[in-house]
Amino acid sequence: MQLTPQIRLTTQRQIILEELEKVTSHPTANEVYDMVRKRLPRIGLGTVYRNLELMADAGIILKLEVGGTQKRFDAVTTPHYHIRCISCGKVDDIELPVIEDINKTAAAISHYQVLGHHIEFSGVCSSCNCPEQNTLVN
Ligand SMILES: [Zn+2]
Ligand SMILES: [Zn+2]
Repeated sequence: MQLTPQIRLTTQRQIILEELEKVTSHPTANEVYDMVRKRLPRIGLGTVYRNLELMADAGIILKLEVGGTQKRFDAVTTPHYHIRCISCGKVDDIELPVIEDINKTAAAISHYQVLGHHIEFSGVCSSCNCPEQNTLVN
């Protein structure tokens, strides 16, 4: 049983969702704000932040449980795994089949009703792995 509050998709939220759907970079609230501001110049960071939290609570978007100091958001709400670069902090989707059995195993061990799991891989991305290439780009 999941308690997902129903929220109205206001114009602001619709635009936030549209902008979030355009990218696969799992942006922070600040980055979403920068994108949304181009279409809604008068919107405030606090409003964007509050809407992101509300939309995540309602299951419309995903709030990522990944390392790093800032929360990140994802328009893809179907279960999938993430990989984070420990050098530049970027977060990518990783195309790995979702392991369903792990929930059953965890339930058996913990006696919890297991609803889901999160796996975050960490590593060094290809651009951080090639410093020579970086100096060329910069
Ligand atoms: Zn990197
Ligand atoms: Zn993702």
